[in-house]
Amino acid sequence: MKSSRPIRARIAPAAILHNYRLAKSHAPEAKAWAVVKANAYGHGQWRAVEALRSEADGFALLECENAVALREAGVTQPILLLEGVFSARDVRAVIEHRLTCVVHCLEQLKLLVRNGQFVTPVSLYLKLNTGMNRLGFTPETLGKAWEILQQLPQVDVTLMTHFAEADGERGVTGQLDRFRQISGDWGGPVSLANSAAILRHPQTHAEWVRPGIMLYGASPFADQSAAELGLQAAMTLESAIIGVQSLQAGDRVGYGGTFTADKPMRIGIVACGYADGYPRHAPSGTPIAVMGQRTKTVGRVSMDMLACDLSDIPEAGIGAPVTLWGEGIAGHVPADDVATAAGTIAYELFCALAPRVPVILDETAAVNRK
Ligand SMILES: *Cc1c(COP(=O)(O)O)cnc(C)c1O
Repeated sequence: MKSSRPIRARIAPAAILHNYRLAKSHAPEAKAWAVVKANAYGHGQWRAVEALRSEADGFALLECENAVALREAGVTQPILLLEGVFSARDVRAVIEHRLTCVVHCLEQLKLLVRNGQFVTPVSLYLKLNTGMNRLGFTPETLGKAWEILQQLPQVDVTLMTHFAEADGERGVTGQLDRFRQISGDWGGPVSLANSAAILRHPQTHAEWVRPGIMLYGASPFADQSAAELGLQAAMTLESAIIGVQSLQAGDRVGYGGTFTADKPMRIGIVACGYADGYPRHAPSGTPIAVMGQRTKTVGRVSMDMLACDLSDIPEAGIGAPVTLWGEGIAGHVPADDVATAAGTIAYELFCALAPRVPVILDETAAVNRK
C-alpha cells in the first residue's frame, strides 16, 4: 500500500514518448538509443521501456543483468551496454542475448575474445577517446584493437565517442575533428550524439544518436529551457503543506536559522526533505509552487521537511498541494530551475529520487497535454 504521507513522484509515460519523438525529429536520418541507464534517470527503467517499447530503435543502459531482464521480458530491439562487459559471465550473456556492447580498452576486448565463441554475429561499439579522457581507445591503442578484431569475422563494428561539452561554448568541433583523425577513412556506422548534440549539433547525428536527459523532459543546456526546446516534464515531484507558521520580523526558520524574516510572514511546511531526494543545498529562494502559484523556499532543507513562503498565498493552508518540480496540479516548476538554484543539474535531482517516495503513473498526461 502506498503511504498516506502526501509526497508522490508522478511519472508521465506519454511525456517520455513525446520527448523521444522530438529527439527523432531533430535527427530524422538516425536511429536512436533510448538511454535508460540509472533506472531511467530515476524514472523507473521499466516505466521508460514500456513507454518506448513500440517505438524506440534500441535501449542503452549499463548493467548486463538489466539488459538480460529486458530480453527476458520480450524486448526485441538492440540493447547497448554503455560500459561494455565487466566479467566472463557478461560476455556469455552478450552472445546469448545478442546484446550490443561498448568496448573501450584493450583489456575489455581481450576479455571478450577469451570468453566468447564468436560463431554468431556480435555488434561492438568501439569507443574512441576524443578528449573527454574517461574511456576509449587512443590512436596508440586502436591499431592493436583492429588487429584483434581482424580475427573475429562475425563481429560488426560501430565507432563511437562521447562529447564533454556539447552543451557548452566549446561545443563539439574539437572532439569531432579528433574523431575524424582517429577513425581515418572509416566508412562504417558511427554514434556520437547525446541530447545536447542532438539538439544543437546536427553534424554529429550520424547513424545512431543517444538521447538521455531530453527523454525525461529536462534541458541539457544552461541557456535554453526545456519548454523552449518543446520538451515535456516526465517526472513531477509533488507533496502538500503539513504545517503553517506565522512569523514576526526577526524570526528564523529551520536548522541553523539561516533564514530570518524581515517582516511579518506566513510560511508553509512541506512534506519533502533531502531523504526524499530534494537537494539539501537548495538555498532560500529556490522556486516551488503552491496551489497554482510560484513561491520560494525559506531556510534549510531538512531530512523530511522544507519551508516555503505563503505570504502571498493566503488561501493555502494545511493540505494545500505543492509542486516541488515538474508539471503538477499545484503549478509548473522546471526541475532545471530547482537544480540551478541548488548548484546542480536536473540529471542529479532525478537520479536522487529516494526509494521511499511512492511513484504513480500519470496515464492521463497524454490526454491533458494534447
Ligand atoms: C548517459 C549517456 C548518454 C546520454 O547523455 P544525455 O546527456 O543524458 O543525453 C549518451 N551516451 C553515453 C555514452 C552516455 O553514457
